[in-house]
Amino acid sequence: MTSLSHNNAQRPLQTALGNAVNGYFQQQNIAKTGDTALYRKATIILFMHITSYTCFFLLAEPYSWLAWAFHGFTTALVGFNIMHDGAHGSFTKNKKINSLAAHTFNIIGSNAFYWKQKHNLNHHPYTNVAAADEDIEAFGLLRMSPDKPRHWFHRWQHIYVWALYPLTSLFWFFVLDFLAYFNQKIVDQEFSQKYQAKDSAIFWLSKAFYLTAYLFIPAHFLGWETVIIGFLCLHAVMGVLFAVVFQLAHVVDKTEFPQPDEHGNLPYEWAAHQLATTADFAPKSKFTTWCVGGLNFQVEHHLFPRISHTHYPKLHKIVREVCAQENIEHREYPTVWQAIVGHVKHLKSMGQA
Ligand SMILES: [Zn+2]
Repeated sequence: MTSLSHNNAQRPLQTALGNAVNGYFQQQNIAKTGDTALYRKATIILFMHITSYTCFFLLAEPYSWLAWAFHGFTTALVGFNIMHDGAHGSFTKNKKINSLAAHTFNIIGSNAFYWKQKHNLNHHPYTNVAAADEDIEAFGLLRMSPDKPRHWFHRWQHIYVWALYPLTSLFWFFVLDFLAYFNQKIVDQEFSQKYQAKDSAIFWLSKAFYLTAYLFIPAHFLGWETVIIGFLCLHAVMGVLFAVVFQLAHVVDKTEFPQPDEHGNLPYEWAAHQLATTADFAPKSKFTTWCVGGLNFQVEHHLFPRISHTHYPKLHKIVREVCAQENIEHREYPTVWQAIVGHVKHLKSMGQA
């Protein structure tokens, strides 16, 4: 395993962006963490989440399956809006509440420790670098990066990908979590911090909690057939949302896939790497921004991951101005649909010889 590094000897872009954004917060005299609007949103999401879980038991099929599917939607909302900000330390100024917010990931089926390694320490610094970023790793089923080998069946990947995305969270929670736990690495990169006894205990207890809450308890009251169908509906919705929201920001025809040299050196300074590998989508859609926790402003998120997503619409304007001054491309798709088309075009070109 070669350790990776950015071309950070000079960081003109990072300095210009940092100055502009810090100037905004000083001028406004506001905190970079979440605000009342975020806490109101978190309360609404948690209410929808608990209510839809309760409906598993109150409604008869087929309506109960709609509740499971809707619960898949609210689970994704918990992930995008509460867990993700908490894991980046941007939900509040309070470290314990951020940790609590990050650990909602254990309640919805995965693991906060694994997320920190996978997302904060690998995906964020080394976005779209095949040796480190698990978001572009599909075990040969898909070819998302030019760094990955091409197989004959990839020529249809832009079509069959839509049958794979509903399986994303099932594969993640029941395969990737365990692979990372036992191998203690993400793609080719060793965990910077290994699972300690406490982390292992949390891992196994969380998995036991998830299986009990989502399979054993509902099956006791509703029967296994109802529960298995409901559980698959839940994961189909959550899987598509997880896959699409992250893919539209990076795995599209406007972004790059930088390759390190034999010493692990990447071509750009860190901020230029983020701008080359990341695209915004639907920046004017308030509904999209509300639902996906500002992850449609993924450029601003990658440049300022420790700033809460509630500030991203404002930062978007500032970042675009700095990019124009520095003559650097700020990549974005005006709508979700255009980003989906960009994703399909990228997969199609990666699948061709
Ligand atoms: Zn992030």
